[in-house]
Amino acid sequence: MKSIATLNLQYAHRFYGFRGEAQFLHGHTGTLTIEVEDSINEGVNMVFPCNEIKKTAWHILQNFDHAVVLREDDPLLPAILNVYEEQGIKNGAPQNTMKGPAFKTELATAYPECRLVVTKETMTTEGMIKMVYELLKDELNISKITFTSGDNTASCEYNTNNKTDRCPLCGISLVKGVCPKCGYKKE
Ligand SMILES: [Zn+2]
Ligand SMILES: [Zn+2]
Repeated sequence: MKSIATLNLQYAHRFYGFRGEAQFLHGHTGTLTIEVEDSINEGVNMVFPCNEIKKTAWHILQNFDHAVVLREDDPLLPAILNVYEEQGIKNGAPQNTMKGPAFKTELATAYPECRLVVTKETMTTEGMIKMVYELLKDELNISKITFTSGDNTASCEYNTNNKTDRCPLCGISLVKGVCPKCGYKKE
């Protein structure tokens, strides 16, 4: 069985070197759907609480929200950083509070202070799914990710291990046999 959570991300990007309208900087609201698969946790009669999937995903992925997402070789990158620097917001602004932890993976580096994500590959819907899986695969038992942005939608399915130990009282993953939310201890 699956539990499915959806979240929205607003961002600006472009496909550098692409011959089409998308070579120009533009923005979207992207919709990300994350499907978590496991057995039913009989204590709570669900696979996993959807609000907890959303919370776990948002913690990291909020770095993509109201962000500029550019490929590492895109000349817009130094241009934008120069403007931010001149304006004094390259290293942050007091109003920039919706920040997740800075991350660096094989595919993406987040600079939360100036709401920028630098990517190795073009951020197509396919590219986004690869980045999201890499960021969340150790946190959630992900069986499928779908990402929709404008007219584009991509999805990818994954094998899951289906053996996450979950709290029978509130449904979330146990950490070393203890529920981080309610304190339940596994016998
Ligand atoms: Zn686009
Ligand atoms: Zn619990």
